[in-house]
Amino acid sequence: MSHLFNHNGAENTGYSQPAPLSSDAMPAVPKGLVRKAAARWPRLSEPEMVRHYTWLSKRNFGIDTGFYPLGSCTMKHNPRVNEVIAQLPGIADIHPHQPEHHLQGLLSIFYEMQHMLEVCAGMDQVTLQPVAGAQGEFTAVRCIQEYFRLRGEEQRTKVIVPDSAHGTNPASAAMSGFEIVEIPSLEDGRMDLEALAAVADETTAAMMITNPNTLGLFEADIKAASEIVHQAGGQMYYDGANFNAILGITSPGLMGFDAVHFNLHKTFSQPHGGGGPGSGPIGVKSHLAPFLPGPLAARRDPTPGELAVAVDEHWYHWEQPEHSIGKVQQWHGNAGAVIRCWAYYRRYGSGLKTMSEHAVLNANYLRHAIHREAKKAGVDHLFVDGAETDVAKHEFTLSMQPAKEALGVSAMDVAKGLLDRGYMAPTVYFPLVVPECMMIEPTETESKDTLDTFAEHFAQVLRTEPEALHEAPITTPVRRVDEVYAARNLCLRHPYDDA
Ligand SMILES: *Cc1c(COP(=O)(O)O)cnc(C)c1O
Repeated sequence: MSHLFNHNGAENTGYSQPAPLSSDAMPAVPKGLVRKAAARWPRLSEPEMVRHYTWLSKRNFGIDTGFYPLGSCTMKHNPRVNEVIAQLPGIADIHPHQPEHHLQGLLSIFYEMQHMLEVCAGMDQVTLQPVAGAQGEFTAVRCIQEYFRLRGEEQRTKVIVPDSAHGTNPASAAMSGFEIVEIPSLEDGRMDLEALAAVADETTAAMMITNPNTLGLFEADIKAASEIVHQAGGQMYYDGANFNAILGITSPGLMGFDAVHFNLHKTFSQPHGGGGPGSGPIGVKSHLAPFLPGPLAARRDPTPGELAVAVDEHWYHWEQPEHSIGKVQQWHGNAGAVIRCWAYYRRYGSGLKTMSEHAVLNANYLRHAIHREAKKAGVDHLFVDGAETDVAKHEFTLSMQPAKEALGVSAMDVAKGLLDRGYMAPTVYFPLVVPECMMIEPTETESKDTLDTFAEHFAQVLRTEPEALHEAPITTPVRRVDEVYAARNLCLRHPYDDA
């Protein structure tokens, strides 16, 4: 198969459309910028170029290729109508520098999205600017920091996180200059209120936690935790990566939180992975709103005689919060991702609750189906201690420790075996508090049939000869990779082949 990486460097002799007749018609390139020698690029014809990218795309695995049960990442189907809407000329062709009266459509969508997120989070003001969950965390933690600075409470230098927290929580707090205080979880993976009470004091700026927690279990004591932190004068921060479990059912506002982030690209569809593209809006209670990064989409009634250009007789405009920490992203965040997620949200409308209900139902169905099938394959007790009788939320963890003891296969082996059966592997070895952890999240967009078949394949992997499983995957373009080496020695260039 011909592609760029095996191209022999020969001159392009294939089909290409003719170059412009005269270069005189082109705007002159400043002299200093004109190339002295031809670029060292492989020379491919147009169809060869198309084949290169098509070949690359076929080596990739995505939600459109197969089931993608990657816990914590919420990989759900992306309805194609979202793409149609995001590509409407009134949205795709506008430039952020255009004046407000050109942007009324986009502004009205932004305004509506801010408002919808405020309602489902129980917060007073949302900004759509951050483009990832992690960036949302950093932004909100910075707002909390400025809030305390303005109040003269600069001795609040600590942020509390449970030991099951996603790594971005302590990382965001540390990047803002806070000291991290980690508290241990209970046996069943839930938060330890006594451990929290022991560390919450006048040096506490905030506690960061997600609910349901990273094990997919609901923290029923969350209000008590909020009270402990508030009584110490600190702020409660909600990591919203697990919103898919609770939308329309409860809200961080009801649980006592002061600030939240959304991972729009998880909860409300949007193709994502490999670091982007995403959107991580944050919502805050009114006391933190003056610190948000701007501009925010705002709305006012038209003044008498003013041309009403807006769709619903309102004027939309950009507004800058009074004590804003400044921008965290160029322009208005990742507008395309916001539009797609708005479309997903809008189609549920007030029925959003069913989205969460189906996500939770699918997770619990799959949890028990895997447990049942694994038991038939001779591996029992995959549930984490104490969690057997619990209802999981939209995702769940299994411990492969019994499989390790009985068969000598690790969570990594099982994950690699699943790749050979055409699945994306679940998240492995996270959260750290579960030994040989596998974390699975089916989302609401998968059918019962898909879940049943996955559970059967999971058991098939457990039935595989351990020696064979240690060799998996054998059907993928690359076999087991050294992930640590790849992360530490990042190289995104392919060497130029002079041969
Ligand atoms: C994904 C995730 C994050 C970080 O979100 P990004 O959008 O990937 O930056 C934070 N916390 C939890 C629990 C997550 O699953």
